[in-house]
Amino acid sequence: MTDTDVIIVGAGPTGLMLAGELRLAGVEPLVLERQAQIRETPKASGLGGRILDLLRYRGLLERFEAAASGPYPPPRFPFGNLYLDLTQLDDVPMHALPIPQRAIERVLEDHARDLGTEVRRGHEVLAVSQDENAVTAEVRGPDGVYRVTARYLVGCDGGRSPIRELAGIAFSGITYPEVNRLAQVTVHESVTVHDDGDIEVAGMGRLHPGFTRTDNGVFAFAVNAGVLSLQTTEDESAEYDDNEPLSMAELADSCRRVLGADLPLGDPIRLSRYTFQDRQAERYRAGRILVAGDAAHLFPATGTALNVGMLDTVDLAWKLGAEIAGWAPAGLLDSYHDERHFAGARARTQTRAQAALRRTDDPAVEALRDVFRELISDTPALRRMGAMVGATDVRYPQPDPETHPLAGTFAPDLTLHTDQGTTSVAELMRTARPVLLDLADRTDLHEVAREWSHRIDIRIAKTDDLTTEALLIRPDAHIAWATDVHAPTDAATLRTALTTWFGEPLPAADA
Ligand SMILES: Cc1cc2nc3c(=O)[nH]c(=O)nc-3n(C[C@H](O)[C@H](O)[C@H](O)COP(=O)(O)OP(=O)(O)OC[C@H]3O[C@@H](n4cnc5c(N)ncnc54)[C@H](O)[C@@H]3O)c2cc1C
Repeated sequence: MTDTDVIIVGAGPTGLMLAGELRLAGVEPLVLERQAQIRETPKASGLGGRILDLLRYRGLLERFEAAASGPYPPPRFPFGNLYLDLTQLDDVPMHALPIPQRAIERVLEDHARDLGTEVRRGHEVLAVSQDENAVTAEVRGPDGVYRVTARYLVGCDGGRSPIRELAGIAFSGITYPEVNRLAQVTVHESVTVHDDGDIEVAGMGRLHPGFTRTDNGVFAFAVNAGVLSLQTTEDESAEYDDNEPLSMAELADSCRRVLGADLPLGDPIRLSRYTFQDRQAERYRAGRILVAGDAAHLFPATGTALNVGMLDTVDLAWKLGAEIAGWAPAGLLDSYHDERHFAGARARTQTRAQAALRRTDDPAVEALRDVFRELISDTPALRRMGAMVGATDVRYPQPDPETHPLAGTFAPDLTLHTDQGTTSVAELMRTARPVLLDLADRTDLHEVAREWSHRIDIRIAKTDDLTTEALLIRPDAHIAWATDVHAPTDAATLRTALTTWFGEPLPAADA
């Protein structure tokens, strides 16, 4: 008997999202966070890609929208130092929501607590050990050091992840020398702002908005309503902790190095620093210890990490739930590594491509940018890039190449007409219960599915999509099995899929 089912180390976006998902899977999590309060250090400024669909499916998106700093922006997404102008597309392959990270964490923590999660702030995990039955964490809390046991422990403890190290999981890759300092400050009284957006600084002359490359780095700025937004980019050998706040003195020094003169700065509004690493955990699981979010991957471009990290937890939670409830089929928990390492590697590929496009002014790279710019002016290529950046095109690896093309993909939000009225796939996914969606009233499929009625729901509906006869949807909204009107599959393949993902059927007498 353990103190709790799952210990989550870290109450960042990944740990808090995992807590909520585990509660939906019927699991008791305990979140241990060393910080006494949610960090105010500015980090991410938005959510983008597939996670927004998932949050909508869970009925959570409205809570994020209410806490957001503005409406959905036109989805013009940075890619390297180019932009994917998705406004050109009718069917946008990804959306974005501007919302500061601290607001994301607040919404997720409220949600997790509403569902009954205990979040202990000011509790730092010092050590972990595991045997074949349990994991033990040694924790330093406000009242001293104590031990807590659980069936599993998940390190959602960020890029430096002590848990990953304690579990002996390799995290190979590279650290880029590039240091970006991002600031919003009031315009200093000695700086003149011209109508065309230029600024004039004594001893420096006139500076034009946008990106300027100097001998020592890149300087970028824009002025809006008395606020100077600026960024410096320099190559430096010093290692920085992105959790440590940027100071005005550090920012002023960086501006001096890049511009070669002092830039007068007004009062700080927002200051942050970020560096890039390109790393991925070799294994996402070591026995009863797992890693997710930044602890599992760091990408060399912005705008991707939260999407991938929060989606890790959606894949992991129901699988841990199955293990803890005792019905998980062989290999289910290991499929967390297979599926999410694959998704992380794909995100790594597109962010590495961004690093290549961004990093140098080599004429060959300039040519690559030109070629790429031309390619993304074509609608199909643009749509494909948008889907790749938002991870809306992820299809989990299928061991059998004959599997239906929808298997492994995210379930589309079909409108469903049922005897009880109109509903949708999104509505069905609120409770994170797996579902067999029968769109062609195939009794042979219900008969098989009824044997798993203790684990999955069966819904009969009509939809305007006339090509699909039935879908088996997992709790993470990914399709486990599908059959088409034009090439109907027999119920035996459904039985195999149900056994693969949801274990043994009910004994015949109970079915
Ligand atoms: C300036 C900046 C801008 C960014 N912008 C974006 C963006 O626009 N989009 C995007 O997707 N991403 C962005 N990121 C990246 C994003 O912030 C991270 O990917 C995200 O914070 C990762 O979440 P996480 O929960 O995995 O880890 P973290 O947020 O790092 O959380 C880990 C938590 O674990 C806790 N912890 C660590 N060790 C222990 C321990 N031993 N015991 C208890 N608790 C522990 C830490 O205190 C921390 O709260 C940005 C980052 C920076 C720095």
